[in-house]
Amino acid sequence: MSAWLYMILGAVILAGAQTVVRRLRMPPATCSWCARASGHQVTGHTADQCRGPVLAQQQRTDIDAAHERDLARKDSQLSEQAARRQAEKERHAARLRILQVGTMSTRRTGRGNSIIISGWIFDRTTGPRDASTLNGAPETFATTGAPERTHGWTLTELHAMVHGGACTCDVVTLARTAAH
Ligand SMILES: [Zn+2]
Ligand SMILES: [Zn+2]
Repeated sequence: MSAWLYMILGAVILAGAQTVVRRLRMPPATCSWCARASGHQVTGHTADQCRGPVLAQQQRTDIDAAHERDLARKDSQLSEQAARRQAEKERHAARLRILQVGTMSTRRTGRGNSIIISGWIFDRTTGPRDASTLNGAPETFATTGAPERTHGWTLTELHAMVHGGACTCDVVTLARTAAH
């Protein structure tokens, strides 16, 4: 082999060796963002290459969105509660005066047990005034369904009047599942 080939080969080997030495001497890439976030040095990428800020921003956005959803849910719960309270107030105001307390019992019918409410007399002059209630005649009441639609008193209220609040008879059990 000629001398100049040895020289070229030597130069290539030297250049390669210098690159390796430079690489070994170069400090490893570190990330200032990760260092700040984690509290210790993180190597392997620079702050410019770091995915940390993007992920952190995404996390903040997700948390904000979850918080918004939470607030919206609480808002709608509150307005539902307010609507229920208002309906309950209106029902109370519209309850007819009871002139005669009747009975409450259960009876087996074709589709299972029904609550039978009978012998109750209400004063129609005490409810909301409209053409149909102006005659004021007391009304005898009997139903198997939701009594509050007629005179404003619920199954629970009527039952407590005749059996007492502590009673746990069939009426109470049925009232929980009664159609309203
Ligand atoms: Zn990083
Ligand atoms: Zn009872």
